[in-house]
Amino acid sequence: MEIVLIDTGFFYADGGAMFGAIPKSSWSKRYPSNEANGCVLAMRTVLIKTSCGRIVLIDTGAGNKHLKLLSYYKFYGLCDLGEELRKRGVSPEDVTDVILTHLHFDHCGYVTVIDKETGQLTLSFPNAKHWVSEAQWQRFTHPHPLEKASFMPENMNPAYESGLLKQIKEETQICPEISLKLYDGHTQGQIAPYLKGEENTYVFAGDVIPLAASVSPHWISAYDTNPMQSFDEKTRMLEEAAKEKQVLFFCHDAYTFCATIKKIGAFFKTDEVFNLKEYK
Ligand SMILES: [Zn+2]
Repeated sequence: MEIVLIDTGFFYADGGAMFGAIPKSSWSKRYPSNEANGCVLAMRTVLIKTSCGRIVLIDTGAGNKHLKLLSYYKFYGLCDLGEELRKRGVSPEDVTDVILTHLHFDHCGYVTVIDKETGQLTLSFPNAKHWVSEAQWQRFTHPHPLEKASFMPENMNPAYESGLLKQIKEETQICPEISLKLYDGHTQGQIAPYLKGEENTYVFAGDVIPLAASVSPHWISAYDTNPMQSFDEKTRMLEEAAKEKQVLFFCHDAYTFCATIKKIGAFFKTDEVFNLKEYK
């Protein structure tokens, strides 16, 4: 199995929102911000070539359909994910599976693009199964007013209409090397893909633990829809990661890509930090 991390672009999120109830005097020691309190966040995706011949993507970044609408977040450095794949010898038609951790715009925006000639919405990965949880699809189709602005129907409806959406209800193994586990808290039914490599298991922590700085279960983002559940679910992910020596991928951390976790008493900390972009 080959695993490649791809940065699809960056945006600014308010540090106060990212770290919720944690005061700036504490979070500013763990994550940089500018004078307007803006923290640079990455939108990191993963390309996986499995031993059994599947070509799998985890998340897609924000894409480029809503740039004006999203000017609040000051997106920059956006790449064309299709081009990034071609540079690595993969055409978008080759992708067999797109795993969407959840359906907030910064994770599924590139599922569809606007065709330059026809102006029509088209699927970026027309042959891929698009994996989401049933609970997350419910949220997407029946959004709560507080979460509604993060869900954009045009990002996902073409995948649904093409019959390419695969909904899971529980932990699901999609091939010998990839299992999908479910975590609530940030949003209902977030998928965390577990990738079984030669020596390590890699966990795409998604927005369960978006940054190395948010490893502590108490450090919960104000974007999380159910903070108490986030605490419990992060603890569940961290307990297993520390025990099994798993490597966590932090999809929004612009500075720290991956780390193992250690438990000290009741606390969790990053242990070994890896800033590689390729794993096996
Ligand atoms: Zn996110």
